[in-house]
Amino acid sequence: LFTAGVALALLGVFATLIARRDPHNPVLEIQRALAAGEFVPYYQPIVDITTGQLRGAEVLVRWKKPDGTVVLPAAFIPLAESSGLIRAMTLDLMRRVSDEAGKAIGERPALKIAFNFASKLASDETVVKDVYGVFAKSPIKMTQVVLEITERDPIESFAATRQIIAALQSLGIRIAIDDVGTGHSGLSYMLKLGVDIIKIDKMFIDAIGTDRNSTTIIETLVDLAHNMRMDVVAEGVESFEQVMHLREIGVRSAQGYVFAPPLPGRAFLKLVDAMDGL
Ligand code: C2E
Ligand code: CA
Ligand code: CA
Ligand code: CA
Repeated sequence: LFTAGVALALLGVFATLIARRDPHNPVLEIQRALAAGEFVPYYQPIVDITTGQLRGAEVLVRWKKPDGTVVLPAAFIPLAESSGLIRAMTLDLMRRVSDEAGKAIGERPALKIAFNFASKLASDETVVKDVYGVFAKSPIKMTQVVLEITERDPIESFAATRQIIAALQSLGIRIAIDDVGTGHSGLSYMLKLGVDIIKIDKMFIDAIGTDRNSTTIIETLVDLAHNMRMDVVAEGVESFEQVMHLREIGVRSAQGYVFAPPLPGRAFLKLVDAMDGL
């Protein structure tokens, strides 16, 4: 057993050395970029479609490379998740949002700011105090923070996730289930987590007016959510027709290219200012 342990340790050391020598090791590249501050927040406005007012934004990470190229999350989030770097990346993103937009958001308590929160993070109880640590020092109030947990990934420990969600909620943070309708978890499972918001995936929004089944599913989801006192956000809204339909079935909040794409910090702050007068 001892020799097996030593052999394993040696193997680990060599693996690390080999990884260090390879400048193209993608995990090390993410680690370097994180330390260099290359992961930056973009902000996609979320709009109240009954009043036209700004309700807040979803933060979407972008990798801004030194050469100016902007890399989308699909190219690095899966690796950040499997390597464990997602935790540091998410907390760093929260601090950046706080530094960049904290004042503007904190001054407007009606605005909410949503972060994508890997389901892996939502099963690690030590994350609660880290998130608390960021917003305790921020002008952004806990009650303005939303964490989006995607339904797409299976939840490893339902009991642990449920407890962590409850702990975050007791701080005033609200929890959204993201990409509703696309996941493995099934509706009842998802609803048992005790979340505050559901985000209806673009897939269903796309089908509005074309596919009757999808339209019925959205209507059912919206009724169910409202009966359970949850808010509904429609995502990936691209057309005015979709907005009108969503209004008809009682959806209040939406985001999508019909309103705005994810915006860099400065553009978002300008928008926040401009919306004050409306
Ligand atoms: P998501 O959370 O479902 O975010 C919505 C995605 O749809 C974003 O893609 C957004 O740019 C895009 N989108 C918004 N409106 C429209 C529209 O009207 N039409 C179309 N075609 N697309 C629209 P993005 O920014 O590439 O992000 C992809 C995914 O990466 C996100 O999907 C989310 O799951 C993940 N992600 C982004 N940032 C983070 C992060 O900080 N942490 C974690 N764990 N995941 C993140
Ligand atoms: Ca999201
Ligand atoms: Ca989503
Ligand atoms: Ca989506």
